[in-house]
Amino acid sequence: MLTPDQLAEIDAARATPRPTLRAVSEGMEAHLYRAHPVLDHGFIRVIDYMGDDAAIVQAARVSYGAGTKHVQNDEGLIRYLMRHWHSTPFEMCEVKLHVKLPVFVARQWIRHRTANVNEYSARYSILDREFYIPAPEQLAAQSTVNNQGRGEVLTGEEAARVLDLLKSDANRAYDHYEAMLSQDGQQGLARELARMNLPANIYTQWYWKVDLHNLFHFLRLRADAHAQYEIRVYAEAIAACVKDWVPLAFAAFEDYRMGGVTLSGKAIAVLKRRLAGEAVTQEASGMSKGEWREFVEVWG
Ligand SMILES: Cc1cc2nc3c(=O)[nH]c(=O)nc-3n(C[C@H](O)[C@H](O)[C@H](O)COP(=O)(O)OP(=O)(O)OC[C@H]3O[C@@H](n4cnc5c(N)ncnc54)[C@H](O)[C@@H]3O)c2cc1C
Repeated sequence: MLTPDQLAEIDAARATPRPTLRAVSEGMEAHLYRAHPVLDHGFIRVIDYMGDDAAIVQAARVSYGAGTKHVQNDEGLIRYLMRHWHSTPFEMCEVKLHVKLPVFVARQWIRHRTANVNEYSARYSILDREFYIPAPEQLAAQSTVNNQGRGEVLTGEEAARVLDLLKSDANRAYDHYEAMLSQDGQQGLARELARMNLPANIYTQWYWKVDLHNLFHFLRLRADAHAQYEIRVYAEAIAACVKDWVPLAFAAFEDYRMGGVTLSGKAIAVLKRRLAGEAVTQEASGMSKGEWREFVEVWG
């Protein structure tokens, strides 16, 4: 995944700590620069960060010092801010990540517009022969109940057939990429053009900088069970770092956003009727079948 030279660079970066007056999160310091593997060739690593839990409290209070000095007060305020969608104090924290990911995952990821991105240039550099090939347990058929999901895991000959297609297509496309770039006795094609036949499972890399509020929004959508597995594992790896970086804010996020649900007016009315002892049906609820199914998933 990382070459010995790249690992040595990371070790060197970690070997020269300097004192600072800036806010430091001990939990995040442990992650700085280190690569956390994701999928077969990917990773995320924290390149830089700004702020900690106290910085959120400090911004909310527009104070001179660091937070309120009482963890309990900080926690209560952070939970209050999260509960009431008072989001700007969370924007005071930022993180910069280096991410290596398949291009088809990058296409989903880049839809999150409230971040700053700089991607590896395949006009300037030659891409590596690295393709995402799903692990056997992720090689699944189309779901029969969810148009946007996968169902039964493939096994035996069918798994082998699909894997063979994935691998041979990737290798053939890369062989042609190399052949087109080749200037061995011929003119060769420019890198910016030769790349266009490469498949969407080839890996790309970028630096991605985002503030904590928008990162929580990203995690809410992409660490969710409904997100595609291949982006979800990246979101989960990032979430593990965020938990160590801002433990109080992350706990509030887990509780209110990941663990909570939004109730519509109709859903509240149904719950009230149920609490009063009435057996409410979908037809009598005023909700559509889809809404009702989702409501029942949470409330039974
Ligand atoms: C399960 C799932 C399935 C999806 N399926 C599809 C699909 O089939 N096709 C598809 O195209 N996309 C799909 N998406 C992508 C989705 O529609 C969003 O584009 C993506 O999740 C980014 O969300 P966002 O716009 O809220 O994030 P960001 O771009 O980070 O924006 C954050 C918030 O900032 C505000 N904002 C940002 N930019 C603007 C703007 N220009 N104008 C107004 N407000 C703005 C909005 O309030 C927004 O919610 C899917 C996403 C998920 C999670």
